[in-house]
Amino acid sequence: MRRLAERLTLLSIRQDDGAETLGIRTPQGILDVRSVAARFSLPAPQTLESMLRESRGAELEAIMHHALAAGDAALFRPEASIRHGRLFTHPEKIVCVGLNYRRHAAEVGAQPPRFPPLFSKFANALAPHGGTIVLPPPEIATQFDYETELVAVIGRPARNVSEHEALTYIAGYCVGHDFSARDLQMELPAGQWLVGKSLDGFAPVGPYFVSADLVGNPDRLAISTRVNGELRQSSNTSDFIFTMPQLVAYISRYWTLMPGDLIFTGTPEGVILGYPEAQRRWLKAGDEIVSAIEKLGELKFRLS
Ligand code: MN
Repeated sequence: MRRLAERLTLLSIRQDDGAETLGIRTPQGILDVRSVAARFSLPAPQTLESMLRESRGAELEAIMHHALAAGDAALFRPEASIRHGRLFTHPEKIVCVGLNYRRHAAEVGAQPPRFPPLFSKFANALAPHGGTIVLPPPEIATQFDYETELVAVIGRPARNVSEHEALTYIAGYCVGHDFSARDLQMELPAGQWLVGKSLDGFAPVGPYFVSADLVGNPDRLAISTRVNGELRQSSNTSDFIFTMPQLVAYISRYWTLMPGDLIFTGTPEGVILGYPEAQRRWLKAGDEIVSAIEKLGELKFRLS
């Protein structure tokens, strides 16, 4: 039967040959789907995107059950030995929501919007857990800021869906980061969000894709950001202005959401932009950022 992934926590393994392929996180360690599939001659998707687009979640469950039944500890790799690849490389759409937390809207002096303000990032911005964002030179931008965000991953085509059924179109969730250059974002009076938020590497996602059944209610998850160990954002998705069902229903009025599409759902209060102007100390090369969301793990990256 073809269906969405269930009971799965997945990651991307950066292989020695450069390929970015699927891994399954188990209590015993990480299963390298490519090598386990070869060992047992089982069919399996090589990437999360092909798993989502071809509804091949059941094949991953079969891989996991074969490996567990084989009783061979060598099939499981220690997670610390994994070099993470990108979970997503070419989604059809990366839809981002601006201003979706009440206390964040307040800190930047904005009224809560009547509809979700939408913008996008390009696939060039996608980056792995454990990676490095190479900052552009100062003549391009200097005001770098963090935005930890819950990312919803679409699992089946969604067009004009109701709020009531909206969550059934979500395959799973990830921690994401809407890294931002505020000077570019605000370069024009009406905003220049695409430029300020979609430079190369400005959208790290990971370390895991967690299937929706393991997450439960996406509108009640703790979310936080640490910079060099210091807590900067600490909130909960219960502060959403638009709930996850409302976002999916709203966006699907305008575009058909496709499997593998990503929705960045906005960031909570605590961003540098929200500080009084004299107290803003923008991010800089050498900084280490940790974005954490309840049930989804910790996304880490550094700046250079
Ligand atoms: Mn954002």
